[in-house]
Amino acid sequence: TAPKGKPNNKPKPLTDTKTNFTSLREKASILYEQRKKLPIFGHADEIRTKLREQDVMLLVGETGSGKSTQIPQFLVNEFWCRPTPAKVPQKDGSVKSMTVGGCIAITQPRRVAAISLARRVAEEMGTPLGSSSPASKVGYSVRFDTSTSPSTRVKFLTEGMLLQEMLHDPWLTRYSAIVVDEVHERGVNVDLTTGFLRNLVSGKREGRGGVPLKVVVMSATADMESLLGFFQEGFKSQPQLQNGEANGTAEEQKDEGSSKQISVCHIKGRQFPVQTIYSPEPVHDYVDAALKVIFQIHYKEPTPGDVLVFLTGQETVEALEKLVNEYAVGMDPSLPRIQVLPLFAALPQVAQQRVFAPAPPRTRKVILATNIAETSVTVSGVRYVVDCGKAKVKQFRTRLGLDSLLVKPISKSAAIQRKGRAGREAPGKCYRLYTESDYLTLDETNTPEILRCDLSQALLNMKARGVDDIVRFPFLTRPPREALEKALLQLLGIDALDESGGISEVGLKIAKLPLTPTLGRVLLAASEQGTECLLDVIDIISCLSVENIFLNTTSEEKKEAAEIARRDLYRREGDHLTMLSTVRAYAGENVDRKAWAERHLVSHRAMQSVMDVRKQLRSQCRQAKLLPRDDRLDQHFDTSPVPILQSFLCGFATNTARLVPDGSYRTVVGNQTVAIHPSSVLFGKKVEAIMYNEFVFTNRSYARGVSAVQMDWVGEALAGQ
Ligand code: ADP
Repeated sequence: TAPKGKPNNKPKPLTDTKTNFTSLREKASILYEQRKKLPIFGHADEIRTKLREQDVMLLVGETGSGKSTQIPQFLVNEFWCRPTPAKVPQKDGSVKSMTVGGCIAITQPRRVAAISLARRVAEEMGTPLGSSSPASKVGYSVRFDTSTSPSTRVKFLTEGMLLQEMLHDPWLTRYSAIVVDEVHERGVNVDLTTGFLRNLVSGKREGRGGVPLKVVVMSATADMESLLGFFQEGFKSQPQLQNGEANGTAEEQKDEGSSKQISVCHIKGRQFPVQTIYSPEPVHDYVDAALKVIFQIHYKEPTPGDVLVFLTGQETVEALEKLVNEYAVGMDPSLPRIQVLPLFAALPQVAQQRVFAPAPPRTRKVILATNIAETSVTVSGVRYVVDCGKAKVKQFRTRLGLDSLLVKPISKSAAIQRKGRAGREAPGKCYRLYTESDYLTLDETNTPEILRCDLSQALLNMKARGVDDIVRFPFLTRPPREALEKALLQLLGIDALDESGGISEVGLKIAKLPLTPTLGRVLLAASEQGTECLLDVIDIISCLSVENIFLNTTSEEKKEAAEIARRDLYRREGDHLTMLSTVRAYAGENVDRKAWAERHLVSHRAMQSVMDVRKQLRSQCRQAKLLPRDDRLDQHFDTSPVPILQSFLCGFATNTARLVPDGSYRTVVGNQTVAIHPSSVLFGKKVEAIMYNEFVFTNRSYARGVSAVQMDWVGEALAGQ
């Protein structure tokens, strides 16, 4: 986070001695030569002119055409982008003189992209990044990590963070423009963002003292027609909001001048031909198949030319990383070396940045990525793509009333994007680890997330923003009524809403935390139990935000080794307390963390992320006055597990199952069979009842993140709902 300068000791840019501005400028002028070659560069004047006249622009351009990095730089020196003094009416009827605008926000669906884009744009603009210098003009803000300075003009942030900022500042007063990037991904948060922004641009501007807000919506593939209609509808329906439904034909909309307020811009990309090679027969083990293809490429195809492999998640990435490294050892020494680089959301930042560095001489980069690399992140040098054809997606399981992560076939449009990554700089090849007839059966496009996931967070955000009538909210795609009702019930269950469906005090507090509503509820419950319990729960939640802190040990032999190595960490209460003892041991004083992690078969990489999250959560809790401003409280080792588990039950009362006489577990709500996942320390154990964080469905239903609880606690927690 940005260091808070002392009020009367404001650092001045010129006294910033740490940063070598000359070398930054030199680097920027080298990069300028590269930037000039981007397809978008020739459109700079057109884009500036259009945005001077109109407030909304829809911009379509292929991945890599330069949208995310160049648009903010095209706009930042425009006259309308300057901070403007304005008189802003306040709720109490008074008028406040304040500065409006001056900053550009660019939203991203993924944190990895937000950070790496900010880093790149800072380099291109010749300015230090974020909080590293008070003179920095480019910053970023993602969950658990914000890096900005008092001079930030361009800020990359996740959609979720922009929604958070809107809770504090509904009119987005500090911004002159909001650039919504990657709308084609259609995550829930982008749908909410566009809904709120439509209201902001088409409505009156009293909250901004009359200063306009420009909105640029960018997409690699999206169907711009529907977005155009969506924003036109906003301009058209505005005057009619008081008297009921918006109506009127498309012709009438044009007459009302809405088309004058929205411009559309198409950027033609550059794409070299990419040859597609399908698997001749269906592939059962795509990790193994990918391994073979990687070495086939490495032995047969000339360098330079890096390989980008699309996998499903951290686990498959790490499994393949290990295999490629093992096989590379026995490789013909006359061949170039292989540098394996994983890329997934939970990877610590330093490791993520390595992906963008050019390969050392005589080395081929092999990047193992999740669908992050599909459109969000562009890595140069890639000539070969290996596509497993699958991705992990969130899917709401109505019967269970919760989200689970499922590995599903990707859409045709995603497959085309993946393939395109091979042809950005030269002709390339794309190896699809599925057959051509499988490809033909894929869906055309991704289903918007709002149609398939838990909506409680989205709903809480809307309620906290004062949207009471959810049905009238301008959704890009309207979610099913059933899913909205489920989310309402869930929020009522954790006391985030009051009986009339309005936001409660608890709900407001939860909405301001960077957590899902359930985890937010757990944190609040823990804070009521006292500081020690809260610190412990923060440690556990930090672990839950990382995919897996323990190294994968699925084979029998490895399982035994893990049992021994981790014996002193395992807790019979279950995974939550085991996570806690792991964090405590890892974070202990005088511990060589890397060596400790290796000895205990714990992922040092994952634990570094855990420590980052823990630091951020503690600081958020201090800001929210849930924690005192004193870190010495950290030294305690004797908390009882009961308040910790009971705090978790406040959020997860419906994620519980009890043991039934046949020895299996049945969910308390819904009476479904569920088994404890083999990765849990409680695997194979019989306890009265279990509580779990996550429900995964592979060949059967598994509970992950499991702890033993007592049925009467569950009863109490459910009764409290
Ligand atoms: P788009 O948004 O249209 O997909 P970008 O603006 O993200 O395009 O990328 C434009 C170019 O900038 C890419 O071709 C890539 O070479 C370069 N680039 C983007 N991000 C980074 C980064 N983090 N490191 C190095 N180069 C980058």
